[in-house]
Amino acid sequence: MELRSSNINKLDNGDFDVLIVGGGINGASAAAALAGKGVRVALIERGDFAGSTSMHSSNLVWGGIKYMESRDFALVRKLCMSRNHLIKSYPATVQEIRFLTTITRGFRYHPRYLWAGAWLYWLIGNGFTRIPRFLSPTAIRDSEAIIDTRNAIGGFEYSDAYLYDNDARFVFNFVRGALNYGAVAVNYVESLGARREGAGWITRARDVISGRELEVRSRVLINAAGPWVDEHNSLTGQATDHRHLYSKGIHLIVPRLTDSQRVLAFFADDGRLFFVIPMGPRTCIGTTDTRVERPEVVASEEDIRFVLDNINKRLELDKPLGKEDIISIRCGVRPLAVKAEGSGERDFLQLSRKHAIDVNQRDAHLSIFGGKLTDCLNVGEEIVAAVGSMGLEVPYPKHRWYGEPPDQVRREFLHQAKLMRLDAMTASDASEPLSTRLWRRYGTHALEMLEEIREDPLQAEVLIEGTEYLRCELRYAKRREMITRLEDFLRRRSKIALVVHEEAMRRSPGLREACTILFGDEADARLEEYFATTRRERGEAAADESLASLGSARSVTPGE
Ligand SMILES: Cc1cc2nc3c(=O)[nH]c(=O)nc-3n(C[C@H](O)[C@H](O)[C@H](O)COP(=O)(O)OP(=O)(O)OC[C@H]3O[C@@H](n4cnc5c(N)ncnc54)[C@H](O)[C@@H]3O)c2cc1C
Repeated sequence: MELRSSNINKLDNGDFDVLIVGGGINGASAAAALAGKGVRVALIERGDFAGSTSMHSSNLVWGGIKYMESRDFALVRKLCMSRNHLIKSYPATVQEIRFLTTITRGFRYHPRYLWAGAWLYWLIGNGFTRIPRFLSPTAIRDSEAIIDTRNAIGGFEYSDAYLYDNDARFVFNFVRGALNYGAVAVNYVESLGARREGAGWITRARDVISGRELEVRSRVLINAAGPWVDEHNSLTGQATDHRHLYSKGIHLIVPRLTDSQRVLAFFADDGRLFFVIPMGPRTCIGTTDTRVERPEVVASEEDIRFVLDNINKRLELDKPLGKEDIISIRCGVRPLAVKAEGSGERDFLQLSRKHAIDVNQRDAHLSIFGGKLTDCLNVGEEIVAAVGSMGLEVPYPKHRWYGEPPDQVRREFLHQAKLMRLDAMTASDASEPLSTRLWRRYGTHALEMLEEIREDPLQAEVLIEGTEYLRCELRYAKRREMITRLEDFLRRRSKIALVVHEEAMRRSPGLREACTILFGDEADARLEEYFATTRRERGEAAADESLASLGSARSVTPGE
């Protein structure tokens, strides 16, 4: 039986130690931590895993340099330690990257002052990364020709880290890890609310695909519904110390602007940090920070103009970027944790992004507020501690539940790959050798792919033109990655929908074959469903003239 159906059967009337509602980074890391330490866990996600906020981030794993300005050194220290921990634990996935920041005349701080701040940031981060460097306008120009330095008075380079593949893939790997430890995780299953019965919880859930209703029993309930945490708490009658405010942020994906693998950082017109971030064969630019009242958002004309205007003012491109250059849009809300009784004004302006876990011991209920991808290992550990404090047994408290496989497994993989000349099969336009990519994405499971390619070299062929995904990856995705809709693969397990124009995808004969591998007899229906969704999104956006001219704007409405 396929993975999803079998997990749905296990959910229905299943009895778990813990049920987690929400499969973004907070829910996924909590599930991996608990399952790895031997707790019986279920996780339900009403859309796809990482289908909301966690697929709209800037892909940065950073120590929070911007909180240096508000002198929140404790937060910076915590985030720097989390960043270092992630770089060490995921050397192939979370990689150090240089940030080149340009300061223009009239900015609130002199570049030398900021450079000194970058040194302090480096020290707070235990000197784990390469040292900061001061740059004159000429040196900036020499190292990055596209930066318009006419108004620049200097700049500095420092290091943080980024997710080489993308955020949604990173999150899915925690879900996959939890599944490996025996967790029951299912996408497209929505919690309709939960009630206390005896010493536990009964959660009413609905399979969004079939409409089937289920009941899931658990001793502890964890609300990891991201921006919808408050909404879900109102369904279960939970009162909490915190609540969420929302800040909308968008990114635009455009053709690659520079070949240098560094982030270009600027201060935008609103005084906030603004980035040009490498994204495989493309460049990702953003972001914005607009307070909104609801978590369901789309990129408005104003958001898009803000990003384009700011970038065009700071770069010297052959031709300024226009809407026609946009390949895709990312748009989501940051769930910001604030005290429930306050107005939230102070917290919002200070842009604090700390997470908070509210524990209701009496009801055995936890709510996770706020947070960052960068913070995910802390969230996992804190959730285990909180669950333990509720009297649940944690059988393997010391088990390390995260990180890439040990070095000897990697060496064995690389050895096998070398013996079969895997890298010689890399497509000529690929950005990196096959062995590097397969290891980063699949870790130990990449060994299974070698086996498939040895049996049938066609498995090493790129299937969808303009992407780097192989036939064997599609087969693997079908078996182990719970692809329920085509978008799950195109947008989240891979980043194809972010970097390939929708029109190019439509014309690709390989996409049809990919669909057949993923969905068998349902291939046509799934293809149609996918393009109907993108069409509908464009249709919906017609009212918003900004999006009418774009190919693939995505909203974050869950469960679509
Ligand atoms: C523009 C932007 C840029 C960012 N950049 C960075 C960055 O560079 N680095 C960084 O570390 N962080 C960054 N963040 C922050 C980070 O992305 C978020 O803090 C994080 O993704 C939130 O994860 P989450 O699990 O709480 O929420 P989500 O990812 O939204 O997950 C919650 C899930 O719960 C599900 N759900 C809701 N209700 C139900 C229900 N009733 N039943 C079942 N499921 C339900 C939703 O469908 C959703 O998938 C950024 C955020 C934004 C918006």
